[in-house]
Amino acid sequence: MDRLYRVSNGGQPFYAVEHDGHFRHVAFEGGQFGARYTPGDAIAGGLHSVRVLAPVRPSKMVCVGQNYLDHVKELGRPVPTEPVLFLKPPTTVIDPGGPIKLPPGVGRVDHEAELAVVIGRPAHRVSRAKAWDYIFGITAVNDVTARDIQNREVQYTRAKGFDTFAPIGPSILVGVDGHPRSVEGFINGEKRQSSTTAQLIFPIDLLVEYITFVMTLEPGDIIFTGTPSGVGPLKAGDVVTVRVEGVGDLTNPVENE
Ligand code: MG
Repeated sequence: MDRLYRVSNGGQPFYAVEHDGHFRHVAFEGGQFGARYTPGDAIAGGLHSVRVLAPVRPSKMVCVGQNYLDHVKELGRPVPTEPVLFLKPPTTVIDPGGPIKLPPGVGRVDHEAELAVVIGRPAHRVSRAKAWDYIFGITAVNDVTARDIQNREVQYTRAKGFDTFAPIGPSILVGVDGHPRSVEGFINGEKRQSSTTAQLIFPIDLLVEYITFVMTLEPGDIIFTGTPSGVGPLKAGDVVTVRVEGVGDLTNPVENE
């Protein structure tokens, strides 16, 4: 398993990979997230010499709400019998380290630590049994949510769609399968969320089948798999971290817009 990063050293962003203890440029074969990539020249200075960016710029982000039982209970909602889907616009995406901006007058804004999957090739009507063939890797996301707005509106578009409400990264862990991964959320270093994808009500392979029955997922598209219990409000000055096993820490400061 490799960790793939999208980085910049001041010029055009490029991809690099941690491979055999070295940090190397990467060339893709067959499109950006083609099944194969070739590690190239080592990068002098390593990971710390570059700026780490959000690992993808997705055409769409399909999100699953209420997919951990303990989180459904804390929201006081009935257990869903089918996946609850919504979209976040690509304009919500920010880099690791970028500020989450609290919009004025919207009330409570929460963190939601989640594991996300990154699609590797066009996926339409994919069966559960084939789902992992279409997944390029996993990453960490923070599904930042304007909770007061969500609680009074039927659609999630406004609550989930503010600019800066989707930190992603720092890496894509490539070469994974359906083995459970831990998902944790921290505020100012204090652990608030802790679970694993073994606790998902609707597992990842089922989600791929369910979503691609409706829409084609394209390379770089992302599925947010849902958040465990322990969500809570953010305030200016907080530092929020999402840790997904094998991906690294996705850390972002919080400020008032
Ligand atoms: Mg969520």
